[in-house]
Amino acid sequence: QQVLNIVGGGMAGSEAAWQAAEAGLDVIIHEMRPHTGTFAHQTGQLAEMVCSNSFRSDDSEQNAVGLLHWEMRAAGGLIMRMADACRLPAGGALAVDREHFANAVTDALMSHPKITRQDAEITELPKEGQWIVATGPLTSGALAKTIASKTGADALAFFDAIAPIVYSDSIDMSKAWMQSRYDKGEREEERTAYLNCPMDKETYDAFIDALLVADKTEFHEGETAGYFDGCLPIEVMAERGRETLRHGPMKPVGLTNPHMPETKAHAVVQLRRDNKLGTLFNIVGFQTKMKYGAQTDVFRMIPGLEEARFARLGGIHRNTFLNSPRLLDEQLRLRTQPNLRFAGQITGVEGYVESAAMGLLAGRLAVADATGRTPTPPPPTTATGALVTHITGGADAKTFQPMNVNFGLFPPVGGLKSGRRGRKDRYKAYTDRAKEDWSDWLSSGGAVSG
Ligand code: FAD
Repeated sequence: QQVLNIVGGGMAGSEAAWQAAEAGLDVIIHEMRPHTGTFAHQTGQLAEMVCSNSFRSDDSEQNAVGLLHWEMRAAGGLIMRMADACRLPAGGALAVDREHFANAVTDALMSHPKITRQDAEITELPKEGQWIVATGPLTSGALAKTIASKTGADALAFFDAIAPIVYSDSIDMSKAWMQSRYDKGEREEERTAYLNCPMDKETYDAFIDALLVADKTEFHEGETAGYFDGCLPIEVMAERGRETLRHGPMKPVGLTNPHMPETKAHAVVQLRRDNKLGTLFNIVGFQTKMKYGAQTDVFRMIPGLEEARFARLGGIHRNTFLNSPRLLDEQLRLRTQPNLRFAGQITGVEGYVESAAMGLLAGRLAVADATGRTPTPPPPTTATGALVTHITGGADAKTFQPMNVNFGLFPPVGGLKSGRRGRKDRYKAYTDRAKEDWSDWLSSGGAVSG
């Protein structure tokens, strides 16, 4: 029988191992810690949480992360089972005792008769055998080099530079307008590629002042060692001079505001369509190290974004990730070498929960491969399906940046009110539909049988 090799015993690798072993595959987890460490991990335990001890909201009716919890529980996920067992009081969030949690996951995996662990850093990826690479944001340098040699160096990033992403239905279109700079492109998809928010001088000055004083986070010690490629946070651009942004991402040229055609804007904030569905727009060039609270305050100063809801806020972190829309098929396999499957944060999802979910899916898909079946991928109406569809095709490969799960990734449900007023009903409709479709997918085999 085939053995499934999993590189990296973090959130994704642990869940992938569990799913595959439970379905009968022999699994080897190759984990480099504790012999080779990272700047963030402290132990040699599997599924170590490197920072916060929270799996975020556990609300499966109104929150997309909560829905992902629900789907993983329904699929017999180990990460969720152990998170539930190690739960700490945290209101609506699922927070855990970090040490307890990692020990519980490690014990469950190491006592499974189908799973063994090899303590070693993997630096090469063979052409034979089934492999899942789940080495996460801090993939070791030697393996990153091997991956880059298979994918092309420009297809593997070492930092993310995440601009905040806004739900398009929360943008005030009585102030904003759609237009590409210099009206490039006659095609509908190009005309609807950019949204513009104008600023007069007074608003621009207040915006720069707010950027300069906002609370920022610092890089962790060791995070930038040998890697940082100089992608400047917006507040650093503002520090270099009050006019820098007006000559950079906020330049007001090549655009005409249909709401005020006679007035020339002092500066313009541009938002670029972030997904095929057109439900998400990112604020172009606004990668930032501002703290989350400060970001919402500062970005809501932008005319048209006063009521903005953010699908994700901006950030810059050390993060190894692939250009998945270009490189991976819908089953998370490297198109050019399908015995290699990727899972977790290296595929361009972000966060413990999203990474574990991609591990769960990869483990199940590996079972289908090992038994020679062609699996049906989870429907895009489910949280797992929406996420994998986004990273392997829904997102634009040219501007691909890591993504959290959010309702903007889901195909819209028809016949419901848009905007803030209909939100509760809309989210309930998304989660009801997802639960039904996920249950159907699982009962038709969920990739491991059928
Ligand atoms: P990991 O959990 O990192 O697991 C990857 C594993 O692969 C590690 O155990 C590593 O030792 C191993 N490995 C790497 N290279 C090799 C190799 N060559 N051979 C063998 N083993 C190897 N997410 C949140 O949800 N909340 C947070 O607060 C949060 N804070 C973060 C803070 C920092 C500093 C970092 C770096 C990340 C943070 N994240 C946070 C993201 C979170 O760590 C990831 O989303 C999640 O751990 C990814 O799961 P994964 O399985 O893909 O990778």
